[in-house]
Amino acid sequence: MIEKRQFYINGAWVDPIQGRDHPVIDPSTEEPCAVISLGGQADTDAAVAAAKAALPGWMATPPAERIALVEKLLAVYQERAEEMAQAMSLEMGAPIDFARANQVGAGTWHLTNFIRAAKEFAFEQPLNDRSPEDRIIYEAVGVAALITPWNWPMNQVTLKVGAAAIAGCTMVLKPSEESPLDAIVFAEMMHAAGFPPGVFNLVNGDGAGVGSQLSAHPDVDMVSFTGSTRAGRLISKAAADTIKRVHLELGGKGANILFDDADDKAVKRGVLHMMQNTGQSCNAPSRMLVQSAIYDKVVDEAAEVASKVTVGPASEQGRHIGPVVNAVQWGKIQDLIQKGIDEGARLVAGGLGRPEGLNKGFFVRPTVFADVTNDMTIAREEIFGPVLSILKFETEEEAVQVANDTPYGLTNYVQTQDGARRNRLARQLRSGMVEMNGKSRSAGSPFGGMKQSGNGREGGVYGLHDFLEVKAVSGWDQGAE
Ligand code: NAD
Repeated sequence: MIEKRQFYINGAWVDPIQGRDHPVIDPSTEEPCAVISLGGQADTDAAVAAAKAALPGWMATPPAERIALVEKLLAVYQERAEEMAQAMSLEMGAPIDFARANQVGAGTWHLTNFIRAAKEFAFEQPLNDRSPEDRIIYEAVGVAALITPWNWPMNQVTLKVGAAAIAGCTMVLKPSEESPLDAIVFAEMMHAAGFPPGVFNLVNGDGAGVGSQLSAHPDVDMVSFTGSTRAGRLISKAAADTIKRVHLELGGKGANILFDDADDKAVKRGVLHMMQNTGQSCNAPSRMLVQSAIYDKVVDEAAEVASKVTVGPASEQGRHIGPVVNAVQWGKIQDLIQKGIDEGARLVAGGLGRPEGLNKGFFVRPTVFADVTNDMTIAREEIFGPVLSILKFETEEEAVQVANDTPYGLTNYVQTQDGARRNRLARQLRSGMVEMNGKSRSAGSPFGGMKQSGNGREGGVYGLHDFLEVKAVSGWDQGAE
């Protein structure tokens, strides 16, 4: 059994002051695989105090030196990639090959993009050509609390830590208690990279404990949170008394709109994207909106693609999907599948219970519902499992209306050969991201949502802005340093 009870505070591994043991469960076996400590107020206070003490020095460190340390971090991250993949795979159930390529790969991608964006970013710049004595200075927001989820652990940790470090913020990371092991490896990497003591601190804990304590802490200047809309609401309320900056990356219920001229691979691409990471992605294309002329064909193809998706333990190599993260999520997904059946959706693949041959572990059958209407629970709630809903539409106007008829607004997807229509939809869809014809967003593109999907933008230069204040200065002496 792995024992990792310590926290990383002020450049050293320390015993908890108010720790409570917490088992980490391997979702492939339902057995404990590690024990960590959940901290209390005194641990939170110690980490925040270290971050506060380190702030003046780190803010005054030239950006080029901060960037150089993130470059060192990236080198260590790449050296220890296998260890990181193993940690994530064990604790949150990503199949090992997927963990290596995608889960670890996401961290490499974000750190690389931040380094590039930061090198092109002017932390001090003139207001404009007409006002020589006006200067705009971008400086760190201050002490940042970083609260992350378990579904794409390193994706979230690197998006926050990379940007905060380059911006000159000091920070306290509280990873999800479901996936603490990868964050512990990451803290070792921060140490190895040589960040000064107090710049980066890690305290494990749950949402009600360390999460809430950080959100309300008077010495925390901002909270950057990724997770559920439920927790995002609580964090915003807790942070209100001290007027913190709060950046939220929350849930989603993305529409994937297939017009009758969609390309041949659009259905397969949409189903596999939904099933990726066992459906546990906030930007999953979970509502497939299909134009009526191709509807029956698409339903048949989607069912066939889903029925060929294999499911298995995270430790096995291959392209299968793994379990969902825990018993609560497994139960919630089963309830929602049952609701889909009860509310009259047509089950065309998968369904209730575990896949054949898997009697233990939080495994879910890759499931597709057809004839879903947008008022059904499965079309409204984020399921966070491998469950796709297919809805029929007639006109472009109707597709836009249904896609936007959700409290969420993270990513929508469009499949059509008609370029003018694609551009029209890109403008009308109310989401932070619109991805069309399977084209991924490029390096440095911002990730984030509208409406109840949140308000932050992570990645590239947009991610740096999240952690920066804008200071307007007049009377600047251009001739002096
Ligand atoms: P969660 O909200 O339960 O937990 C996320 C983190 O918040 C954990 O570290 C948890 O300990 C902490 N937390 C929980 N309650 C808290 C509180 N009251 N105060 C402070 N912290 C609290 O979410 P989860 O189940 O870990 O993650 C899944 C959710 O994350 C999904 O809804 C998913 O859509 C969302 N998500 C969003 C994005 C995005 O960028 N938009 C990315 C990944 C995941």
